[in-house]
Amino acid sequence: MKQNIFAAKGRAKELLKDERYLYPEFIPERLPHRDREIEELAFALRPVLKGRKPENVFVSGKTGTGKTVTVKYVLKELAEYSDRAKSIFVNCFEFSSRHAILSRIANSVGAVVPRRGTGSDEVIERMLALIKKSDFTPIIVLDEADQLLHEGEASKLFYDLVRAIEREKARFGLVFISNDSGLTARLDERVRSSLAEHSLVFEQYSAAQLEDILSERAEYAFFPNVLEKNAVGLIAAHAARIGGDARVAIDCLLKAARAAEKENSEKVAAEHAKKAIAGIQPAQGQKALPFLSEQEKKILVLLSENQASSGELYNKFKRNSQQAITLRRFREIINALEAKHLVKTSLVSLKGRGRTRIITKT
Ligand code: ADP
Ligand code: MG
Repeated sequence: MKQNIFAAKGRAKELLKDERYLYPEFIPERLPHRDREIEELAFALRPVLKGRKPENVFVSGKTGTGKTVTVKYVLKELAEYSDRAKSIFVNCFEFSSRHAILSRIANSVGAVVPRRGTGSDEVIERMLALIKKSDFTPIIVLDEADQLLHEGEASKLFYDLVRAIEREKARFGLVFISNDSGLTARLDERVRSSLAEHSLVFEQYSAAQLEDILSERAEYAFFPNVLEKNAVGLIAAHAARIGGDARVAIDCLLKAARAAEKENSEKVAAEHAKKAIAGIQPAQGQKALPFLSEQEKKILVLLSENQASSGELYNKFKRNSQQAITLRRFREIINALEAKHLVKTSLVSLKGRGRTRIITKT
């Protein structure tokens, strides 16, 4: 009898016990090397337990330093301990305008805000009215807040929130998370001092720290004795070299495991780590991916090998796309990608033929 193709590839030995422990959105039970940050965040939020307003916190640090996971971890602990706080998590890649963010917050505190036809000021009014009545303290987290700086309205939003707290005595806490520690420097003084009552900087992980993080996650993800220590060492060292990004390190470990499984190897060894290292993607692009339009994604794919001039890329895009697209729309997409720091553009002069824009993936 013909064997099913899945059965035919039966493995001698499974390597991954549960790969979900290596997924980027997983919140682990322990966060090695973030004790100080956890403690400081908890300290800033602690007044909530007594029904008082928490301190606003400005969290900054390079991508992959554990900002999002640490904030989520602390908020999860807080929610388990007390029902006096309610966290409202907003990813500014996903909600990128003042209005979208305000509506999202308002909806989360229970206000019904129609999708269209309600002005931002009206949304704020409804939101504040509900917050005043509620018996919980909302903790509003704006993750990837530096995205908002590309929106003209961003500082207005920060101002709305700060003013709501100050003038209306609205009782809620704000946590801003930014990859750019200079974000507050670009805000006006009053917003800045109010936002950053507490400032927390996340440093990049060293190779040794990444090794601890990987080992901790690996304990749950892999069966005993299948992950070789030097594979972990190689991945940690590489990730430390290219920016100390834990996301890159963890992703790389998962890829190494898959490479080993594909070869039916009984161990995840150095050779698999090396294969995974050769194939890793820049982290910023990966984080943004779920929130990009199909057209934006397509451009990134077309750019993945090398850089291209605007004209070349436009033609390539048209060849690869069923729908017609105007040059103007194409330029808008490139500008949007540049605003998200996913591509860089530079103008170069052509001999006697004017100038052209060169687009490079970051
Ligand atoms: P950031 O928000 O600073 O870009 P994240 O919080 O998204 O970084 O962390 C990137 C990835 O690394 C996530 O999958 C996260 O779970 C993991 N991570 C970061 N720091 C730690 C740590 N100290 N221990 C365990 N996992 C971590
Ligand atoms: Mg983050």
